[in-house]
Amino acid sequence: MSTSSAIQWHDTRLAAVRKWESACPYEDFIDDGAIEEALSTQANPDKAHTLAIVEKARDNARAGAMLSPEDVAVLANTQDRDCWEAIYDAANWIKRAVYGNRIVLFAPLYISSPCVNNCAYCGFRTSNDAVSKRTLTMDELDEELAALVGQGHKRLVLVYGEHPSSDHEFICETIARTYSVRRGYGEIRRANINAAPLFVDEYEAVRASGIGTYQVFQETYHHETYRKVHPQGTLKGEYRWRQFALHRALEAGIDDVALGVLFGLYDWRFELLAMLHHAVALEKAFDIGPHTMSYPRLEPALNTPLATRSPHVISDEDFKRAVAIIRLMCPYTGSILTARESPAVRREVMRDGGVSQMDAGSRIAVGGYAQMEHEHIPDRQQFILGDARSLDEFVYDLCRDGYLPSFCTAGYREGRTGANFMPLAKHATVNRFCIANGVLTFKEYLLDYASPETRAIGERVIHTYLEWIDANVPQLADKVRQNLEREGQNQRDLHF
Ligand code: SAM
Ligand code: SF4
Repeated sequence: MSTSSAIQWHDTRLAAVRKWESACPYEDFIDDGAIEEALSTQANPDKAHTLAIVEKARDNARAGAMLSPEDVAVLANTQDRDCWEAIYDAANWIKRAVYGNRIVLFAPLYISSPCVNNCAYCGFRTSNDAVSKRTLTMDELDEELAALVGQGHKRLVLVYGEHPSSDHEFICETIARTYSVRRGYGEIRRANINAAPLFVDEYEAVRASGIGTYQVFQETYHHETYRKVHPQGTLKGEYRWRQFALHRALEAGIDDVALGVLFGLYDWRFELLAMLHHAVALEKAFDIGPHTMSYPRLEPALNTPLATRSPHVISDEDFKRAVAIIRLMCPYTGSILTARESPAVRREVMRDGGVSQMDAGSRIAVGGYAQMEHEHIPDRQQFILGDARSLDEFVYDLCRDGYLPSFCTAGYREGRTGANFMPLAKHATVNRFCIANGVLTFKEYLLDYASPETRAIGERVIHTYLEWIDANVPQLADKVRQNLEREGQNQRDLHF
């Protein structure tokens, strides 16, 4: 596609976006002044008050309630070591109570990098000639999918730049292609997407193609910072259009939506409160909260000074705090920690932050899985990954630390999405199915893909979780054992 037709596409779309914004039926739910005030009012919180909020968060996990913005401001401001330890303890406890001690695994699949936007932090921005951009052909997509299912992945997030060559019709085509791949027992059972905001009719088409979760990150909720890093005159420069992307997706009937921020663009405490306001706004309008929250941290990208020089770069310690507070403030929302982080940071944040989903064996160059041996291809990547472990190594490490690696995708295929999923997650009953499905999908991985070392340690993990099922969900125990036997006889995709 020529540059001039991409510019024309962009300008026509921007005019339509602005028309939508001028008739936008929703109120801006981010009041910057009120958030700053909540943070400054709670600048030096009392220890007893802070610990009482931590206890409230534990109670909330059973009742499915969120903390208030004032509570979150208290937690974010505490400087007391004991309070931090109490927050980490509670995050870990809530994660186990709501989700069980499992980690759901997925991989990102970058499908296109050409982009009409010019986000100051992103290697794919239109003005960055140091990164070469491209869109996978359908044949190349097949190669990527073959490599991914060959590792054992069942769940992907497909990632796209915003460009006429990757419009909603292309997104639908790539989703269909993704679900059609078969390699032995290998297949993709859930394709989530991370793509730029769309119109409601476009979302309807994407929903019909069978996506799992739709993710779009606000990057920063702080209006002034948003304007600084997303140039005016670009589609991404339109704050409200992006702010209500998930509202439009829910209007279109997409059940599972996911929000996020890019930590490092503005004060992390502000972003936490803003994410909470976003979750509340979705609940208010649709009775459905966010399915997951993501909190990528700014990573270095080729020829992208802001990515390393932002005044709001967040330290490892504060990052861990932020993730733990997310677990306390929205106990029923999945929490995604990506391979942007180093293995050491991931290990610690997973434990103390109550994380529930992680990507593994990731490659983020467009076409990167077909060249798996190259951990980094900087001139084709949006940023540089921190964790390049293979899926098998990652699974081994999870087992060593006592987690149950899960490839489960049953929830949405059994209709546990949106309004049906929320009560299960909010009353901490979803883990009954999830541990059982986690065990079954992990066994498939061990049978079909694992190295001998991972298989040995993995069998011990399965044994431990069978005991958990015996003790906590005895009504499923026989069925799980029968299904494990059937898997041993080469049956697959058995789930509750
Ligand atoms: N183009 C779509 C959009 O902007 O919504 C798709 C998302 S983009 C390919 C995926 C996400 O990567 C962005 O939403 C942003 O949060 C994150 N990202 C961009 N630049 C980054 C960087 N330098 N380090 C870490 N994450 C980055
Ligand atoms: Fe494009 Fe997304 Fe990168 Fe912005 S973050 S330049 S919209 S790919």
